[in-house]
Amino acid sequence: MCTHAQRMDYTEAKQRIEQLKAVLWENSRKYYVDNAPTMSDFEYDSLMHELEALEAEYPEYATEDSPTRRVGSDLEDEKSREGSGFAKYPHKYPMLSLANTYSIGEVEEFAQRAVKALNTPFTYCCELKFDGTAICLTYRGGKLFRALTRGDGVVGDDVTENALRIANIPHRLKGSGYPEEFEIRGEILMPYESFDKLNHEREVNEEPLFANPRNAASGSLKLMDPEEVGRRGLICTLYHIPTGQVDFPTHDAALQAAKDWGLPVSDERRICKDIDGIEDFIAHWDAARKSLPYATDGIVIKINEMAYQQQLGYTAKSPRWAVAYKFKAEQACTPILSIDYQVGRTGAVTPVANLEPVLLSGTMVKRATLVNEDQIRSLDIHEGDWVYVEKGGEIIPKITGVNPLKRALGAVEPVFPRCCPDCGTPLVKPEGEARWFCPNTTGCPTQIKGKILHFLSRKAMNVLAGEATVEQLYNKQWVRTPADLYSLTEYQLLQLEGWKERSARRLLQSLADSRNVPFERVLFALGIRYVGETTARDLARHFGSIDALKNASREELLSVADVGEVIADNVFAYFRNDDNLQEISRLQEAGLQFSLVQEKRRLSDALEGKTIVISGNFSISRDDMKALIEAHGGKNSGSVSGKTSFLLAGAKPGPEKVKKAAELGVEIIDEAAFREMVGDSSTSLGMTGSTLFGMADAEPTLF
Ligand code: NAD
Repeated sequence: MCTHAQRMDYTEAKQRIEQLKAVLWENSRKYYVDNAPTMSDFEYDSLMHELEALEAEYPEYATEDSPTRRVGSDLEDEKSREGSGFAKYPHKYPMLSLANTYSIGEVEEFAQRAVKALNTPFTYCCELKFDGTAICLTYRGGKLFRALTRGDGVVGDDVTENALRIANIPHRLKGSGYPEEFEIRGEILMPYESFDKLNHEREVNEEPLFANPRNAASGSLKLMDPEEVGRRGLICTLYHIPTGQVDFPTHDAALQAAKDWGLPVSDERRICKDIDGIEDFIAHWDAARKSLPYATDGIVIKINEMAYQQQLGYTAKSPRWAVAYKFKAEQACTPILSIDYQVGRTGAVTPVANLEPVLLSGTMVKRATLVNEDQIRSLDIHEGDWVYVEKGGEIIPKITGVNPLKRALGAVEPVFPRCCPDCGTPLVKPEGEARWFCPNTTGCPTQIKGKILHFLSRKAMNVLAGEATVEQLYNKQWVRTPADLYSLTEYQLLQLEGWKERSARRLLQSLADSRNVPFERVLFALGIRYVGETTARDLARHFGSIDALKNASREELLSVADVGEVIADNVFAYFRNDDNLQEISRLQEAGLQFSLVQEKRRLSDALEGKTIVISGNFSISRDDMKALIEAHGGKNSGSVSGKTSFLLAGAKPGPEKVKKAAELGVEIIDEAAFREMVGDSSTSLGMTGSTLFGMADAEPTLF
């Protein structure tokens, strides 16, 4: 990997900046929206710091949309803000991130900068950095009025109904002296005990496991089922009242008052006068945090005096009056038993070490990635070496170093294969890539199966088929590309071992339903390198159809927001490959959506003039239900009022809505009655942007 420490020429710097931006945005989405990161925090932060340094060195390439200038967004659809089923509200004050560092030296620099800027005595308030998902609570007249997620920092999802189910969030404040209306911010956490219980239940039900308590907390807070949120054992801890809302001289005094009003505020904070005090606090919690019942990933150091906070102000992304010191992930040392070379769906070959199993951050680690050949060389790995393994918030543990003292005499360096371990094709290393690739994209079995699995996955075509099915179809030589799936017959499927009429029909129905999947997801399903969900959506919206995209020049591709050179080159090259073009035309013949649906399909006028509020869970997703209402001429509304025609209540509807409907005499009807009303029994509609289907095969999220 190139680092900024090596002087680059302008073209290299521009390319690296584009590449870093693409990787960071994609991983930010995986982290905040999918709650399924594939990169460690340390790695993410290192790439972010590399980008910051490059942008400082080459300011001509620094853009407003850079991830160095925007907080990562947890909104499902940050472009249209229509993606999730939650209402969205703006934050009164932006919800920002925190500058972070893994180095005590940089904490010292932060303290020195503050001393210099303030030039007067002041104190620091040191707190735990709770590892959950951020929340902003508004109390009005002493009652919880609204709970918003951080969203994109400016607008958040309204999760009030869920927050009301979190045991330690008071519905009503106690005591007196609180402002008529104020915001208080903090974190929603899932304690280890609740996390273990939840994952155990999911294992029993064969559902994908959460990789860590942060992802579990964040995923749970965004559930559309408040009762289930209540069962998940989440807790809240609050740590910040934005300046200007309460009149306290210090941050510490504001938190003490919040605690007196009955709000959950941790006592684990200390007022420090200088860097020695801060370092003492860090050293204490580095060890002591292991006995806390919930996850923490560092220490936050804040200037304590409100007036000085105001004086120091904010950057676009974080306050200048605070810094987070992050703890490095826990390490263990264990020997390498062997190294496998795994081929991914894009052909990238990743070395993976099989390890003597070792316990790390509460889980048994047996395998760890060695990333690529350069990494093996730079770590100086030899066969049988004792290696240090780390696992932070990440799913896949990583080897970060070697203990040379334990190296066996005569140990040799591993030989990175020059041919594909799967199909034997000589590997290639494209310019600017640190990884080796198998170029046999249409003949390498692992790549073929990987591409088909990606195509079928929930976020792509959402077809009810998993790894075992793909393996069977591949072994029969019936499916070599996604387009082959659409010629499968029931007669064929019944020849597969273990298949019955029901399973065959289920797969064929699911494939038929996938013809309604919107263009943007079809584009994502094609698996073009670097075109993740967000980029696929951006490209689909910009070009509107595959033909326009296919004919786009590099310059036109580059004019799409967030599309840099790396993505543009890959997309351009993809459409210059005959195999890809042939596959697309076969998929077009199979009836898949290759353009945006402009007009929403109108099914009937049964709900013309009706305003409908939905609540609870239905046999289809809430987005699909809303689309169904609109397709029958109805209008959706988020809250029950005198103008509501009826409340459509699914399983476990929100009690507040039911209560309000009853008070106002608004009719409440269930899904069966609703379907009868519109004369509809379908479960999907081919509409752009709607989540069309239910659950796909569970995909494993743990390594
Ligand atoms: P952050 O988690 O580093 O720090 C800011 C957040 O800390 C705040 O928003 C708040 O929610 C939280 N916090 C906890 N305790 C606090 C306290 N006492 N006072 C104030 N805030 C407190 O920043 P972020 O913007 O939420 O996330 C960025 C980080 O997320 C990155 O630095 C990276 O480590 C991680 N991330 C990882 C990936 C990945 O792929 N692994 C992707 C995106 C982001």
